[in-house]
Amino acid sequence: FAPWEDPDEKPLIRFQNVTKKFGDFTAIQSIDLDIYTREFFALLGPSGCGKTTLMRMLAGFETPTTGKILLGGEDIAATPPNKRPVNMMFQSYALFPHLSVWENVAFGLKREGREKDEIATRVADMMRLTRLDKFARRKPHQLSGGQRQRVALARSLAKAPKLLLLDEPLGALDKKLREETQFELMDIQEKTGTTFVIVTHDQEEAMTVASRVAVMDEGQLVQVSTPDRIYEYPNSVYVADFIGDVNIIEGAASQSGDKVLVTWAEGASPLVATSTAMLTKDQHCYLAIRPEKITITAEEPETTNKVHGEIIDIGYLGNISTYHVKLPTGHMVKAQSTNTRRLSRRNFTWEDKVWLSWSDTAAVLLER
Ligand code: ATP
Repeated sequence: FAPWEDPDEKPLIRFQNVTKKFGDFTAIQSIDLDIYTREFFALLGPSGCGKTTLMRMLAGFETPTTGKILLGGEDIAATPPNKRPVNMMFQSYALFPHLSVWENVAFGLKREGREKDEIATRVADMMRLTRLDKFARRKPHQLSGGQRQRVALARSLAKAPKLLLLDEPLGALDKKLREETQFELMDIQEKTGTTFVIVTHDQEEAMTVASRVAVMDEGQLVQVSTPDRIYEYPNSVYVADFIGDVNIIEGAASQSGDKVLVTWAEGASPLVATSTAMLTKDQHCYLAIRPEKITITAEEPETTNKVHGEIIDIGYLGNISTYHVKLPTGHMVKAQSTNTRRLSRRNFTWEDKVWLSWSDTAAVLLER
């Protein structure tokens, strides 16, 4: 059992019908959410959707207008930020420029008046965990961006919080370093067993690091699930479109059940999609199909789900190419295929007439 599937597991954090208003503006609308111990949980959504507000309420920098936040079963509304077993790592890292790496990491422990020996051991552990041993005497300005990020992480973990909040922690790093650091974060999270909640607007980052992802829109949770479920079974056009690349074909469900036939264009044969929602006959719907689930062939294949059209654009990505195919109905469909030949002899080229096909289980049906 994953903790969120285990009925006996108690959540570390529980949002109970939480709403947050700033004046007339509702930033968070009636949210219910459980986060479990040892989870790496991601809050994902476009700018302004309320991710930071949700996180700031956990840290204690904002209080809910209505509703409750429980930590380990207890209402934390009255607990000030510094009394919560929670730490927050900011995007700017907020390191002390005049203190060495060692002193930055030791700062919180010293302020709590911990024993010298205890501090030395704890800081040494944190330095080892974040591979900073060699940089102990340096000042923040003598470090690279990635190293500074690790100092901030070591400092946030020094007091062994139950919950670490990370606000766009990798935002300042370039793409390659960012990807490396994602794996480092996952490794450190696992080693310490601390619950991590990360705020990000980068869907790849959320999908890479998180055990579960909450996709947000306008102050609400649209879908909360594991990365693979969110990718394979998005619950709305919004989520399908926000996570990865997708083709959305509008149509009408002409048959109910978990396999639905969708009429989508006059004279075209219906397409099959799987659905988890209950649909009425002729209900307006959207069929979502990921580009990499589409097979491109020159010959007509023997499958139910097929359309044909002309290649009008190609995006070359080295290992794969994305083909933009225009159908006679006017629809544009994106299909991806692995490049097996040299560029000069690519699988398909501009103006090729091709068939696009996919299996009955590859497309999912969505309501708006
Ligand atoms: P970003 O990725 O840009 O940081 P976000 O999803 O984290 O966005 P929030 O910072 O949570 O978004 O803000 C959500 C909404 O609440 C925004 O429309 C914002 O303008 C508003 N908001 C946040 N803090 C305040 C405040 N102190 N006073 C008034 N409005 C606020």
